[in-house]
Amino acid sequence: MKPSLTDTLCTRCGLCCDGSLFADVELAGTDEASALEVMGLEIEEDEDDSGLLLQPCAALKGKRCGIYPYRPDCCRTFECRLLQEVKRGAIGVEGAKTKIAEALKRIERVKELIVQLGQGNERLPLKERCAEALALSEEADADPEINRKRDELRAAMTSAEHLIQETFLGGE
Ligand code: SF4
Ligand code: SF4
Repeated sequence: MKPSLTDTLCTRCGLCCDGSLFADVELAGTDEASALEVMGLEIEEDEDDSGLLLQPCAALKGKRCGIYPYRPDCCRTFECRLLQEVKRGAIGVEGAKTKIAEALKRIERVKELIVQLGQGNERLPLKERCAEALALSEEADADPEINRKRDELRAAMTSAEHLIQETFLGGE
């Protein structure tokens, strides 16, 4: 049997679960939210009480969903732009793998710089971690090395966000 695109691509990506693309995802309602909470996932109330699943998702194990048969509707139905483009033949599977590898590389560099600037909390989404790392570094004395890393982080984050937007989220 031919592997699905999810098997081929998502299992080497995980960016829509690990806080790189989203800070949270909207759940279908309180029943879904309660069931996920029982499984140990972090849920927050939103304005209409349907619940938000916070990211990075605690169910993500490596690059695979640890509760795959029980994942919420939003995860069952979500297809990033890259998957949609592969499905309609606008990009080949190998091209998509290359895009994923490039995104992972850029995000990894952002994370390295975040840690070097003193933000070690991996439980926050990428944008939030980046903003905290930049704020922490601004509090530090005008150390040229920290200033250099801060500039590098800003550039690396811009580059990663551009690729994320263009490749996974749907254009400018
Ligand atoms: S971002 Fe796209 S390719 Fe990556 S895991 Fe999510 S759906 Fe799959
Ligand atoms: S429940 Fe599974 S598919 Fe949904 S965000 Fe978490 S790890 Fe990803």
